[in-house]
Amino acid sequence: MDIVSLTIAAVRDGLASKQFSAVELTQEALQFARQENAKTNAYLTFSGERALAAAQKVDAALAAGQPLGPLAGVPVGIKDVIVTRGVRTTCGSKLLEHFVPPYNATAVERLEAAGGIMIGKTNCDEFAMGSSTENSAYGPVRNPVALDRVPGGSSGGSAAVVAQGTAVVSLGSDTGGSIRQPASFCGCVGVTPTYGRVSRYGLVAFASSLDHIGPFARSAKDAATLLSVIAGRDERDATSAAHPVQDYEAAMALPVEGLKLGLPKEYFEGLNQETGDCIHAGLDALKKLGCQIVDVTMPHTKWAIDAYYIICTAEVSANLSRFDGVRFTTRSANSNTLLEMYRNSRGEGFGAEAKRRIMLGAYVLSHGYYDAYYLKAQRVRALIARDFAHAFETVDAIIAPVSPFPAFKLGEKVNDPLQMYLSDIYTITGSLAGIPCMSVPCGATAAGLPIGMQILTKHFAEDTLFRIAHQYELNRQ
Ligand code: GLN
Repeated sequence: MDIVSLTIAAVRDGLASKQFSAVELTQEALQFARQENAKTNAYLTFSGERALAAAQKVDAALAAGQPLGPLAGVPVGIKDVIVTRGVRTTCGSKLLEHFVPPYNATAVERLEAAGGIMIGKTNCDEFAMGSSTENSAYGPVRNPVALDRVPGGSSGGSAAVVAQGTAVVSLGSDTGGSIRQPASFCGCVGVTPTYGRVSRYGLVAFASSLDHIGPFARSAKDAATLLSVIAGRDERDATSAAHPVQDYEAAMALPVEGLKLGLPKEYFEGLNQETGDCIHAGLDALKKLGCQIVDVTMPHTKWAIDAYYIICTAEVSANLSRFDGVRFTTRSANSNTLLEMYRNSRGEGFGAEAKRRIMLGAYVLSHGYYDAYYLKAQRVRALIARDFAHAFETVDAIIAPVSPFPAFKLGEKVNDPLQMYLSDIYTITGSLAGIPCMSVPCGATAAGLPIGMQILTKHFAEDTLFRIAHQYELNRQ
């Protein structure tokens, strides 16, 4: 078996034809993952026992002639901000070094019920804050395509495990681009579904109004299969949507001829030349398939970063107050009073980026500044959502870059948070609007660094997203 290029369908065929058993595949995936991890640091924790037990169940079902779930036997990586019962969940933070959750996130529960095999928990920026995975307390992840470069972030580990082939698919989380940007940097598919499409129950909150769980895969088809397993209403998350989950497979079979694709000019300013060339090559391929390209304008794009970093830090300051040295977290050993214990536990446990955001968030919410910053940012958010709604009156989807540049070198931006924040310009708008968006590989630079093309559609139009991506994948050179 060629584990590096396995697809969900190939796993199913391999199991059905007895080419390998689920236990054999799991053992091989675990061994390969351990070996590759020495290079990339993409996994923080391996869940070998749980994986083998799940694989045995799949083999037993197969032997008994029972129907298999859509992810039967498929090795999966789970971002370490998604809780897993009995398996350590660190959120990339020193504070949660020893936290073993007593329950599973809904997405994990559904994935395992569908036969998916959790190989391990993937490395990420602390509490998903970052764009390079260098903010992890457990060391950065290296991009498997170029080991001296970052894999993107914050879901860098989840992108890397799919790109290096130690998992067939993985789960990440996206608040402002953390699925699409690492997918683009590592050369895989990454999908941020509509806000509320996937339950956030068990996703450790970063900025609750922006947080999404979504899939990484090596093809749009596999991403669609994974999303259809984890999507749908969940009573345990009041913001999860009751909207029916579409038949993505049926949608993907449809041609894209006649679809109108919007090209926002604001997204092509300040773009690295090679990135722009790849996106335009992608657009040419879509034109050949009969898509019509239309210019659209998104006039509020230039305020997106400012609005995002106000709203997300405000929510961070509230959400991260629960990590106080009393519950979940590692407690500072040398404190004499309760207040000292809070201060020392948080001071010793949080990394620099988390501290920066907690302070910024407390500031923008404080009396006297709330109206000037937080309220204004919320207004900008509404205007950005309106830009999209307006565009979708005339187009079926929007095509844009994911990141202004390809994967950068480790250490290149980590000491300049503003530079790091600016790299999120093309992904943040979709997150603020809560619309579905994805990154699809559309070529590489001369040095071989992958470039992703972003596709965005209106709320709950994941079917159109997958249709365009799949038809593009089938027809690109
Ligand atoms: N890079 C963005 C940030 O640092 C987005 C992170 C994310 O989507 N989780 O906030």
